[in-house]
Amino acid sequence: MALREVLKFPDKRLKEVSTPIVEITDEIRAMAQDMLDVMYDEPGIGLAAPQIGEAVRLIVVDTEWTEEGAERNPWVLINPEIVERNGKLVWTEGCLSVPDIEAEVERSESVVLRATNLEGDAVEIEASQLQAVCFQHEIDHLDGVLFIDRISRLKRNLYVQRRKKQLRRELEEA
Ligand code: ZN
Repeated sequence: MALREVLKFPDKRLKEVSTPIVEITDEIRAMAQDMLDVMYDEPGIGLAAPQIGEAVRLIVVDTEWTEEGAERNPWVLINPEIVERNGKLVWTEGCLSVPDIEAEVERSESVVLRATNLEGDAVEIEASQLQAVCFQHEIDHLDGVLFIDRISRLKRNLYVQRRKKQLRRELEEA
């Protein structure tokens, strides 16, 4: 089975604001499964639909899946929204769509999130630390925001230059 490709910066589709999901169709269920397959394969702890080129408000998160073969308990969340934020923390983040960089980002230390699950039920999740960071990071993707948009302009510019050089090299070698 072929996995869906993860879009990489500076793909313009990563800058799009995604639209809410109005109905949970077979297409949406299949998309969620594709996202889980990609997330566990990479591996990553979260993925947002725009990262596989689908501009809809759907994320998958599993911050407890730390080793291959461990039990999988993913959140599949439709139209997720943060309704409460508390505290601040700084976390070192990376992203499957932003290769070769990790950087410190300031986030809320804990959040309350509301969403709909794949069965169509409303869910409310209280999250803190890594899980809270992951939810904030993935919801950012739905608004076309990457974690490098939240670091200093200097660090971001250095990364963009490095990434452009790398892409040019790949193009020349192809
Ligand atoms: Zn990401």
